[in-house]
Amino acid sequence: MTGSFYKMALGSWALTIIQDQYTQGDPANFAANATAEALDAVLTANGLNRAVFKWAINIVFIETGERRVLIDTGVGGDEARLLPTLRLLEVDPASVTDILISHSHMDHVGGLSDDVTAAFPNAAVMIGQTEFDVQAAALSRLMPYAQADLLRVMPDSGEWLPGITAIPAFGHTPGHTAFLLENDGESLLMLMDAANNNVVSLTRLDWAFRLDADPAAASATRRALLEKAVTENRRVFGYHFAFPGVGFVVPDGAGYRWVVLTP
Ligand SMILES: [Zn+2]
Repeated sequence: MTGSFYKMALGSWALTIIQDQYTQGDPANFAANATAEALDAVLTANGLNRAVFKWAINIVFIETGERRVLIDTGVGGDEARLLPTLRLLEVDPASVTDILISHSHMDHVGGLSDDVTAAFPNAAVMIGQTEFDVQAAALSRLMPYAQADLLRVMPDSGEWLPGITAIPAFGHTPGHTAFLLENDGESLLMLMDAANNNVVSLTRLDWAFRLDADPAAASATRRALLEKAVTENRRVFGYHFAFPGVGFVVPDGAGYRWVVLTP
């Protein structure tokens, strides 16, 4: 059995970042309002090209000592690596206590269930009020949890669990949520899909991801969260950044540069 994962400590918490997918991607998806020439110039300046451009899905699994928490659940189905990797790590899915959902796209909620059976039968599933009201109330992947009274619709901002704070990060979807993890003086600012690529989306904050529901709002959110990361000196996580998606951002021109440091 194989699986790729990355372990790091955040204070007394054990974080495992699980690679749910890592496949060839199309960089044009991250630059929907850019010319091909402008995109190629950014790729070339960063040692990339369209043939070697990866699309990652990174899932954070947190063990606090008292709780086992997943932040989003990947694509689900036969291609997904979340469940096989948890098995490799000898983590019983039934032992997961909480799942926090950033937004309702299938690459984030697909692993919750097959619409009938919950993949994590004892986990409370938390989702923000706005995301739920606007586009998740009828989401089939949530149904097994709703039927088991395990669905929790949460305030858009504030602490959802001890040390895990929701930050409204609207734009990618109407109620998209970012998270701040804080434990024992250490922190991780989880951008989720507020920035979707660690090169293109950081270099050009004004370039829209093809799935951004409101590109102007998504761009403003991206800028605000990255400013917050620098001002507060936070380590950053991107759900779709190159695996494992953990690093720092440094102001660079009109945008930011991604710096990977071993945590
Ligand atoms: Zn996504």
